[in-house]
Amino acid sequence: MITAATSFLKAEWADAKLKIGHVVLFVAAVCISLIGISIWGVFNSLQYHLHDKEIEMSNLSKALSSNIAATFAQADTVILGIQGQVGIEGTGPETLKRLGDVLKNQQKSLPQVHGFSIYDEQGLRLFNSNGKVPPGANNSDRDYFTYHRDHASLEPYIGPSILSRSTNEWIISISRRLNHPDGSFAGVTIATIYLKYFLSLYDGIDMGENGIINLTSSTGHIVVRKPFHDADIGTDISTGEVFALLKPGVSSGTATIRSFIDHAERVISFQRVNGYPLVIIAAFDRNEILADWRSESFASFLISSVLLLTLSFLGYRLIKLMSLQIHAQKELQRSEEIYIEANKELGQMALEDGLTGLPNRRKFDLFIHAEINKARRRSDDVALIMIDVDLFKKYNDHYGHVQGDECLRSVSTIIKRNITREGDLAARYGGEEFAIVLSNTDYVGAFIIAEKIRTELEKSSMEHSESPANVVTVSIGISTLSGSKSDTPEDLIDIADKALYVAKTNGRNRTVISNYLDATA
Ligand code: GH3
Ligand code: MG
Ligand code: MG
Repeated sequence: MITAATSFLKAEWADAKLKIGHVVLFVAAVCISLIGISIWGVFNSLQYHLHDKEIEMSNLSKALSSNIAATFAQADTVILGIQGQVGIEGTGPETLKRLGDVLKNQQKSLPQVHGFSIYDEQGLRLFNSNGKVPPGANNSDRDYFTYHRDHASLEPYIGPSILSRSTNEWIISISRRLNHPDGSFAGVTIATIYLKYFLSLYDGIDMGENGIINLTSSTGHIVVRKPFHDADIGTDISTGEVFALLKPGVSSGTATIRSFIDHAERVISFQRVNGYPLVIIAAFDRNEILADWRSESFASFLISSVLLLTLSFLGYRLIKLMSLQIHAQKELQRSEEIYIEANKELGQMALEDGLTGLPNRRKFDLFIHAEINKARRRSDDVALIMIDVDLFKKYNDHYGHVQGDECLRSVSTIIKRNITREGDLAARYGGEEFAIVLSNTDYVGAFIIAEKIRTELEKSSMEHSESPANVVTVSIGISTLSGSKSDTPEDLIDIADKALYVAKTNGRNRTVISNYLDATA
């Protein structure tokens, strides 16, 4: 029963250890997954932020591009009309007067327009919508003039940003060539547009701390840039990264690039302005996007950390609890083993004499009963030898109790040496008395053994000054029986006792045989 319980405990313990292994694995897997998901999420969020800004910049550049195209188109429509009229009517004073009125009216409804002007083939200003033309005002050195003079094309020309000579304002011009009715060069009509008009357009757009909106010519020269610095105007950025991407045939795109002007890294989007040689670039500082991402990631990092810590803590508690359970099981098993061992020892002690190590009286009683039963069934002989140390009281008195014990141990050693056959039993019967049960042995066999013990002890010459023999001796009584139905252990002991008594009264240190029939006769 106990062995079964122990092996059950062992199996339980092994099972619990396996379970702990699984829990450790599970907790570790969940923690690693959580870390993985968090890292993936943070990385994904960065991509999302950057991509989101790219889309935003792309939409913005598209919207601005349309707006800028419309701004130029409105002014261009007006000068296109002038071009047509002059081509038919020439630049006579009446025509000029009429066209001037039209231009003045148009200017009122076009807030972006700084002014309209008409120049003759010498570059002399014939008309200025902003007031009287000062005598001799000549703009033949302006590049729009030389361009139209030298190019027969009737298409509009957009010049670089310049400071107006008349108002000292930053402006950009859109101009068209004028031809005489015969097709020869008649001068230039021009509309100038405030750069501040574009800046006011950009004002409502949140570009962060360090974002930029840049309108450039398609040759890469800055027309107007937010944030505005006079010095930036006209700067050539054609060798920068945007223009590396803006190949012929490419009308728009997005990228993350470093600024040509301030070297900041930005997510940019560029878009050609439909119908005009202009490019609009919207750019948002990458660091500002990252700052948003960082604060968002930090929040998710905090949540993940709390989750991870909670999970680790719970996992740790669970594992600890399971370890404690295993420990308790181990302890229980150890207690079981100790208990079993103690039980064994107790069982041993219950049947063994502590002083001599021989079987004790209890064991003797059990054995003799079993042996007599066996003998009765098989009609075998059983012999009993009772041994009593002679004058032992005197020995004790003279040599002391401790020496007495030693003497008893020596006697038992001699007995053990002579009783080695399996099936026989030598026991301490009590005090200084020993009993030997010899199975399947008759009185002759028993006598021989008894005499061997007696003479061996005598020859060992253990001093006993109080005994007439001067050495320790024993008296022995032997009884035997031959499997009779009526035999009892008590009979056998009684008869051996009687024989022993005879040995004592006849002078001790001798063996006396009795048998059941003699004794009961
Ligand atoms: P007899 O020859 O007639 O047997 O005399 P005896 O003195 O041996 O017999 P008695 O029954 O008068 O004394 C037995 C003594 O054995 C008394 C007791 O103190 C001693 N004795 C019994 N058991 C032990 C023991 O375990 N150790 C020691 N040292 N002495 C014991
Ligand atoms: Mg005695
Ligand atoms: Mg005695």
